[in-house]
Amino acid sequence: MKAAVFEEPGRVVVRDIPKPEIAPDEILIEVRVASICGTDLRISRYGHFKLPQGQHRVLGHEVAGVVVEVGHEVVGFSLGQRVTVTPNVGCGRCEFCRQGLNNMCPDYEAFGVTMDGGFEEYLRVPAFALGNVFHIPDGVSDPSAALTEPFSCCLRGQRALGVGYSDTVVIVGAGPIGIFHTMLARLAGARKVIVSNYGAGRLAMARDAGADVVVDVSTENLAEVVRAETSGRGADVVITCVSSPAVQTEAVELLANHGRINFFAGLGAGGEVPINTNLLHYKGLVLTGTTGSSNYDYVQAMQLVADRRVDPSTLVTRTFTIDQINDAMEYAASGDGMKAMVLFGDGAGRQS
Ligand SMILES: [Zn+2]
Ligand SMILES: [Zn+2]
Repeated sequence: MKAAVFEEPGRVVVRDIPKPEIAPDEILIEVRVASICGTDLRISRYGHFKLPQGQHRVLGHEVAGVVVEVGHEVVGFSLGQRVTVTPNVGCGRCEFCRQGLNNMCPDYEAFGVTMDGGFEEYLRVPAFALGNVFHIPDGVSDPSAALTEPFSCCLRGQRALGVGYSDTVVIVGAGPIGIFHTMLARLAGARKVIVSNYGAGRLAMARDAGADVVVDVSTENLAEVVRAETSGRGADVVITCVSSPAVQTEAVELLANHGRINFFAGLGAGGEVPINTNLLHYKGLVLTGTTGSSNYDYVQAMQLVADRRVDPSTLVTRTFTIDQINDAMEYAASGDGMKAMVLFGDGAGRQS
Protein backbone atom coordinates (compact mmCIF):
# COMPACT_ATOMS: atom_id res chain seq x y z
CA MET A 1 0.00 0.00 0.00
CA LYS A 2 1.04 3.60 -0.44
CA ALA A 3 2.18 5.59 2.57
CA ALA A 4 3.82 8.98 3.14
CA VAL A 5 6.73 8.17 5.40
CA PHE A 6 8.72 10.65 7.48
CA GLU A 7 12.33 9.47 7.34
CA GLU A 8 14.27 12.35 8.81
CA PRO A 9 13.73 16.10 9.32
CA GLY A 10 13.03 17.63 5.93
CA ARG A 11 12.27 14.31 4.25
CA VAL A 12 8.84 12.76 3.70
CA VAL A 13 8.70 10.12 0.97
CA VAL A 14 5.82 8.21 -0.60
CA ARG A 15 6.65 4.52 -0.35
CA ASP A 16 5.01 1.23 -1.10
CA ILE A 17 4.97 -0.53 2.26
CA PRO A 18 3.24 -3.75 3.34
CA LYS A 19 -0.43 -3.43 4.23
CA PRO A 20 -0.57 -3.81 8.04
CA GLU A 21 -1.63 -7.15 9.46
CA ILE A 22 -3.82 -6.95 12.51
CA ALA A 23 -3.76 -8.98 15.70
CA PRO A 24 -6.99 -10.56 17.03
CA ASP A 25 -7.56 -7.53 19.29
CA GLU A 26 -7.04 -4.85 16.62
CA ILE A 27 -8.92 -3.26 13.74
CA LEU A 28 -7.88 -1.99 10.31
CA ILE A 29 -9.23 1.20 8.81
CA GLU A 30 -9.20 1.96 5.09
CA VAL A 31 -8.37 5.66 5.06
CA ARG A 32 -10.65 7.80 2.87
CA VAL A 33 -9.36 11.29 3.65
CA ALA A 34 -6.57 12.80 5.75
CA SER A 35 -5.94 16.49 6.25
CA ILE A 36 -2.64 18.15 6.96
CA CYS A 37 -2.14 19.72 10.36
CA GLY A 38 0.50 22.15 11.59
CA THR A 39 1.81 19.32 13.75
CA ASP A 40 2.52 17.23 10.64
CA LEU A 41 4.43 20.16 9.16
CA ARG A 42 6.44 20.68 12.33
CA ILE A 43 7.37 16.97 12.57
CA SER A 44 8.28 16.82 8.89
CA ARG A 45 10.66 19.75 9.37
CA TYR A 46 12.07 19.26 12.84
CA GLY A 47 11.17 15.74 13.95
CA HIS A 48 9.55 15.09 17.33
CA PHE A 49 10.92 14.38 20.81
CA LYS A 50 9.03 11.09 20.85
CA LEU A 51 10.55 10.01 17.52
CA PRO A 52 14.08 8.63 17.96
CA GLN A 53 16.51 9.54 15.21
CA GLY A 54 16.29 7.09 12.33
CA GLN A 55 12.77 6.00 13.23
CA HIS A 56 10.50 6.15 10.18
CA ARG A 57 6.89 7.17 10.74
CA VAL A 58 3.73 7.60 8.69
CA LEU A 59 2.45 11.05 9.68
CA GLY A 60 -1.14 12.30 9.79
CA HIS A 61 -3.81 12.22 12.47
CA GLU A 62 -6.82 14.06 11.00
CA VAL A 63 -8.44 11.12 9.25
CA ALA A 64 -11.71 9.52 8.30
CA GLY A 65 -12.16 6.04 6.91
CA VAL A 66 -13.99 2.75 6.93
CA VAL A 67 -13.43 -0.31 9.10
CA VAL A 68 -12.31 -3.10 6.76
CA GLU A 69 -10.95 -5.69 9.20
CA VAL A 70 -12.00 -6.50 12.76
CA GLY A 71 -9.97 -8.89 14.91
CA HIS A 72 -12.09 -11.72 16.33
CA GLU A 73 -11.51 -10.57 19.92
CA VAL A 74 -12.75 -7.03 19.21
CA VAL A 75 -16.25 -5.99 20.23
CA GLY A 76 -18.05 -2.80 19.28
CA PHE A 77 -16.77 -2.42 15.73
CA SER A 78 -18.10 -3.87 12.51
CA LEU A 79 -17.06 -4.01 8.89
CA GLY A 80 -18.09 -1.03 6.82
CA GLN A 81 -18.44 1.30 9.80
CA ARG A 82 -17.28 4.84 9.06
CA VAL A 83 -14.84 6.01 11.70
CA THR A 84 -12.33 8.64 12.75
CA VAL A 85 -9.61 8.55 15.37
CA THR A 86 -8.43 11.08 17.92
CA PRO A 87 -4.66 11.28 17.93
CA ASN A 88 -3.54 11.22 21.56
CA VAL A 89 -4.03 7.93 23.35
CA GLY A 90 -3.62 8.35 27.10
CA CYS A 91 -2.08 5.71 29.34
CA GLY A 92 -5.44 5.34 31.12
CA ARG A 93 -3.84 5.18 34.55
CA CYS A 94 -2.39 8.61 35.37
CA GLU A 95 -4.30 11.30 37.26
CA PHE A 96 -5.09 13.17 34.02
CA CYS A 97 -6.38 10.13 32.16
CA ARG A 98 -8.54 9.30 35.17
CA GLN A 99 -10.11 12.76 34.80
CA GLY A 100 -10.74 12.11 31.13
CA LEU A 101 -7.90 14.41 30.08
CA ASN A 102 -6.14 12.11 27.63
CA ASN A 103 -4.70 15.25 25.97
CA MET A 104 -2.70 15.96 29.15
CA CYS A 105 -1.32 12.46 29.72
CA PRO A 106 2.49 12.67 30.14
CA ASP A 107 2.82 9.11 28.90
CA TYR A 108 0.77 9.27 25.71
CA GLU A 109 1.01 7.46 22.42
CA ALA A 110 -0.19 9.24 19.30
CA PHE A 111 -1.16 8.42 15.74
CA GLY A 112 1.31 10.07 13.41
CA VAL A 113 3.95 10.32 16.17
CA THR A 114 4.53 7.09 18.09
CA MET A 115 2.22 5.03 15.86
CA ASP A 116 1.73 5.21 12.13
CA GLY A 117 -0.88 7.77 11.22
CA GLY A 118 -3.31 8.57 8.45
CA PHE A 119 -1.18 9.34 5.41
CA GLU A 120 -1.47 5.74 4.23
CA GLU A 121 -4.11 3.60 2.62
CA TYR A 122 -4.71 1.35 5.63
CA LEU A 123 -4.39 2.39 9.26
CA ARG A 124 -3.90 -0.27 11.93
CA VAL A 125 -5.42 0.53 15.32
CA PRO A 126 -3.73 -1.31 18.21
CA ALA A 127 -5.92 -2.64 21.02
CA PHE A 128 -4.90 0.07 23.48
CA ALA A 129 -6.04 2.76 21.02
CA LEU A 130 -9.54 1.44 20.28
CA GLY A 131 -11.00 3.94 22.76
CA ASN A 132 -9.81 6.66 20.38
CA VAL A 133 -11.87 5.37 17.46
CA PHE A 134 -15.20 7.12 16.91
CA HIS A 135 -18.16 6.29 14.74
CA ILE A 136 -18.97 9.03 12.19
CA PRO A 137 -22.64 10.01 12.45
CA ASP A 138 -24.73 9.66 9.30
CA GLY A 139 -24.83 12.89 7.34
CA VAL A 140 -21.30 13.93 8.35
CA SER A 141 -18.99 13.87 5.33
CA ASP A 142 -15.52 12.35 5.49
CA PRO A 143 -13.76 15.73 5.20
CA SER A 144 -15.90 17.20 8.00
CA ALA A 145 -15.24 14.15 10.14
CA ALA A 146 -11.48 14.41 9.63
CA LEU A 147 -11.52 18.11 10.50
CA THR A 148 -13.53 17.55 13.67
CA GLU A 149 -10.22 16.80 15.42
CA PRO A 150 -8.65 20.28 15.06
CA PHE A 151 -12.12 21.76 15.60
CA SER A 152 -12.36 19.94 18.93
CA CYS A 153 -9.06 21.50 20.04
CA CYS A 154 -10.59 24.93 19.42
CA LEU A 155 -13.72 23.92 21.30
CA ARG A 156 -11.54 23.04 24.29
CA GLY A 157 -9.77 26.41 23.96
CA GLN A 158 -13.03 28.36 24.04
CA ARG A 159 -14.36 26.33 26.95
CA ALA A 160 -11.37 27.59 28.96
CA LEU A 161 -12.53 31.14 28.14
CA GLY A 162 -16.26 30.70 28.63
CA VAL A 163 -17.16 32.86 25.64
CA GLY A 164 -20.68 34.27 25.96
CA TYR A 165 -23.17 36.74 24.54
CA SER A 166 -21.68 39.86 26.12
CA ASP A 167 -18.17 39.23 24.85
CA THR A 168 -16.30 41.04 22.14
CA VAL A 169 -13.88 38.40 20.90
CA VAL A 170 -10.66 39.16 19.04
CA ILE A 171 -9.11 36.30 17.10
CA VAL A 172 -5.55 36.93 15.97
CA GLY A 173 -4.79 34.89 12.87
CA ALA A 174 -7.22 33.69 10.19
CA GLY A 175 -5.73 30.31 9.36
CA PRO A 176 -7.86 27.18 9.81
CA ILE A 177 -7.62 27.44 13.61
CA GLY A 178 -8.66 31.11 13.57
CA ILE A 179 -11.61 30.23 11.36
CA PHE A 180 -12.73 27.45 13.71
CA HIS A 181 -12.50 29.88 16.62
CA THR A 182 -14.59 32.36 14.65
CA MET A 183 -17.28 29.73 14.06
CA LEU A 184 -17.28 28.78 17.75
CA ALA A 185 -17.42 32.37 19.00
CA ARG A 186 -20.43 32.89 16.74
CA LEU A 187 -22.05 29.72 18.04
CA ALA A 188 -21.45 30.88 21.62
CA GLY A 189 -23.38 34.05 20.79
CA ALA A 190 -20.49 36.49 21.06
CA ARG A 191 -21.54 40.12 20.78
CA LYS A 192 -18.86 40.99 18.25
CA VAL A 193 -16.13 38.93 16.59
CA ILE A 194 -13.03 40.69 15.27
CA VAL A 195 -10.51 38.67 13.25
CA SER A 196 -7.08 39.87 12.18
CA ASN A 197 -4.60 38.49 9.71
CA TYR A 198 -1.61 39.60 7.72
CA GLY A 199 -2.91 40.08 4.17
CA ALA A 200 -6.49 40.06 2.98
CA GLY A 201 -6.77 36.58 1.41
CA ARG A 202 -7.85 34.57 4.41
CA LEU A 203 -9.96 37.35 5.90
CA ALA A 204 -12.70 36.77 3.32
CA MET A 205 -13.10 33.29 4.78
CA ALA A 206 -13.21 34.76 8.28
CA ARG A 207 -16.12 36.92 7.16
CA ASP A 208 -17.88 33.88 5.73
CA ALA A 209 -17.34 32.12 9.05
CA GLY A 210 -19.09 34.92 10.89
CA ALA A 211 -16.56 37.63 11.70
CA ASP A 212 -18.18 41.06 12.14
CA VAL A 213 -14.95 42.95 11.63
CA VAL A 214 -11.83 41.84 9.79
CA VAL A 215 -8.51 43.60 10.18
CA ASP A 216 -5.67 43.34 7.69
CA VAL A 217 -2.66 44.09 9.87
CA SER A 218 -0.53 44.79 6.81
CA THR A 219 -2.44 48.04 6.44
CA GLU A 220 -4.38 48.51 9.69
CA ASN A 221 -3.48 48.72 13.37
CA LEU A 222 -5.29 46.02 15.33
CA ALA A 223 -5.11 47.83 18.69
CA GLU A 224 -6.68 50.93 17.15
CA VAL A 225 -9.47 48.94 15.53
CA VAL A 226 -10.20 47.11 18.79
CA ARG A 227 -10.34 50.41 20.68
CA ALA A 228 -12.68 51.89 18.09
CA GLU A 229 -14.93 48.81 18.00
CA THR A 230 -15.21 48.64 21.81
CA SER A 231 -15.61 52.34 22.60
CA GLY A 232 -12.15 52.30 24.12
CA ARG A 233 -12.81 49.42 26.57
CA GLY A 234 -10.77 46.74 24.87
CA ALA A 235 -11.65 43.12 24.12
CA ASP A 236 -13.31 40.78 26.58
CA VAL A 237 -11.67 37.78 24.99
CA VAL A 238 -8.56 37.40 22.83
CA ILE A 239 -7.41 34.17 21.19
CA THR A 240 -3.97 34.06 19.60
CA CYS A 241 -3.78 31.69 16.63
CA VAL A 242 -0.38 32.80 15.41
CA SER A 243 2.92 31.37 16.61
CA SER A 244 4.67 34.62 17.49
CA PRO A 245 6.01 36.04 20.79
CA ALA A 246 5.30 39.60 19.64
CA VAL A 247 1.69 38.72 18.85
CA GLN A 248 1.25 37.27 22.35
CA THR A 249 2.65 40.39 24.01
CA GLU A 250 0.45 42.71 21.96
CA ALA A 251 -2.60 40.49 22.44
CA VAL A 252 -2.55 40.94 26.23
CA GLU A 253 -2.62 44.71 25.69
CA LEU A 254 -5.86 44.41 23.71
CA LEU A 255 -7.79 43.18 26.72
CA ALA A 256 -10.43 45.13 28.65
CA ASN A 257 -10.64 44.99 32.44
CA HIS A 258 -11.37 41.40 33.46
CA GLY A 259 -10.52 40.28 29.95
CA ARG A 260 -9.56 36.67 29.22
CA ILE A 261 -7.01 35.40 26.77
CA ASN A 262 -6.06 32.01 25.39
CA PHE A 263 -2.57 31.62 23.97
CA PHE A 264 -3.86 28.97 21.62
CA ALA A 265 -0.95 28.68 19.19
CA GLY A 266 2.16 27.36 20.90
CA LEU A 267 5.50 29.05 20.31
CA GLY A 268 7.66 25.95 20.15
CA ALA A 269 11.28 25.90 21.25
CA GLY A 270 12.77 29.26 22.07
CA GLY A 271 9.48 31.08 22.38
CA GLU A 272 9.47 33.10 25.56
CA VAL A 273 7.39 36.13 26.36
CA PRO A 274 7.90 38.48 29.32
CA ILE A 275 4.66 39.07 31.22
CA ASN A 276 3.67 42.52 32.44
CA THR A 277 2.13 41.41 35.72
CA ASN A 278 1.00 44.95 36.52
CA LEU A 279 -1.34 44.67 33.57
CA LEU A 280 -2.74 41.41 34.97
CA HIS A 281 -3.03 42.79 38.47
CA TYR A 282 -4.69 46.13 37.81
CA LYS A 283 -6.93 44.91 35.01
CA GLY A 284 -7.82 41.60 36.66
CA LEU A 285 -6.93 39.62 33.57
CA VAL A 286 -7.23 35.86 33.15
CA LEU A 287 -4.55 34.14 31.08
CA THR A 288 -5.21 30.65 29.76
CA GLY A 289 -3.65 28.17 27.38
CA THR A 290 -4.92 24.87 26.06
CA THR A 291 -3.39 22.12 24.00
CA GLY A 292 -5.12 19.41 22.05
CA SER A 293 -8.51 18.11 23.12
CA SER A 294 -9.85 15.34 25.29
CA ASN A 295 -12.02 12.61 23.86
CA TYR A 296 -14.91 14.28 25.64
CA ASP A 297 -14.24 17.57 23.81
CA TYR A 298 -14.12 15.56 20.62
CA VAL A 299 -17.53 13.98 21.21
CA GLN A 300 -19.02 17.43 21.77
CA ALA A 301 -17.33 18.81 18.67
CA MET A 302 -18.67 15.93 16.59
CA GLN A 303 -22.14 16.60 17.98
CA LEU A 304 -21.97 20.20 16.72
CA VAL A 305 -20.92 18.93 13.30
CA ALA A 306 -23.62 16.23 13.21
CA ASP A 307 -26.24 18.82 14.21
CA ARG A 308 -25.03 20.99 11.28
CA ARG A 309 -24.25 23.92 13.52
CA VAL A 310 -20.82 24.09 11.90
CA ASP A 311 -19.45 22.64 8.68
CA PRO A 312 -15.69 22.05 8.99
CA SER A 313 -15.47 20.83 5.40
CA THR A 314 -15.84 24.43 4.21
CA LEU A 315 -12.19 24.83 5.22
CA VAL A 316 -10.97 22.40 2.57
CA THR A 317 -9.62 24.62 -0.18
CA ARG A 318 -7.49 22.10 -2.06
CA THR A 319 -7.28 18.33 -2.39
CA PHE A 320 -4.32 16.10 -3.22
CA THR A 321 -3.48 12.46 -3.77
CA ILE A 322 -1.07 10.68 -1.45
CA ASP A 323 1.57 10.86 -4.20
CA GLN A 324 1.35 14.64 -3.92
CA ILE A 325 2.00 14.71 -0.17
CA ASN A 326 4.91 17.12 -0.42
CA ASP A 327 2.88 19.52 -2.56
CA ALA A 328 0.09 19.21 -0.02
CA MET A 329 2.43 20.06 2.85
CA GLU A 330 3.85 22.98 0.92
CA TYR A 331 0.34 24.27 0.30
CA ALA A 332 -0.57 23.83 3.97
CA ALA A 333 2.51 25.80 4.98
CA SER A 334 2.03 28.55 2.40
CA GLY A 335 -0.63 30.58 4.18
CA ASP A 336 -2.71 30.56 0.98
CA GLY A 337 -6.10 28.94 1.16
CA MET A 338 -6.96 26.91 4.23
CA LYS A 339 -6.87 23.14 4.63
CA ALA A 340 -5.05 20.66 2.39
CA MET A 341 -6.88 17.35 2.24
CA VAL A 342 -5.42 14.10 0.91
CA LEU A 343 -8.05 11.91 -0.76
CA PHE A 344 -7.68 8.16 -1.10
CA GLY A 345 -9.41 5.52 -3.20
CA ASP A 346 -11.96 6.87 -5.63
CA GLY A 347 -11.17 10.22 -4.08
CA ALA A 348 -14.71 11.33 -3.47
CA GLY A 349 -14.87 11.04 0.30
CA ARG A 350 -18.16 9.54 1.39
CA GLN A 351 -21.02 11.73 2.46
CA SER A 352 -22.77 9.30 4.79
ZN1 LIG B 1 -4.07 18.23 14.04
ZN1 LIG C 1 -2.27 9.01 31.28
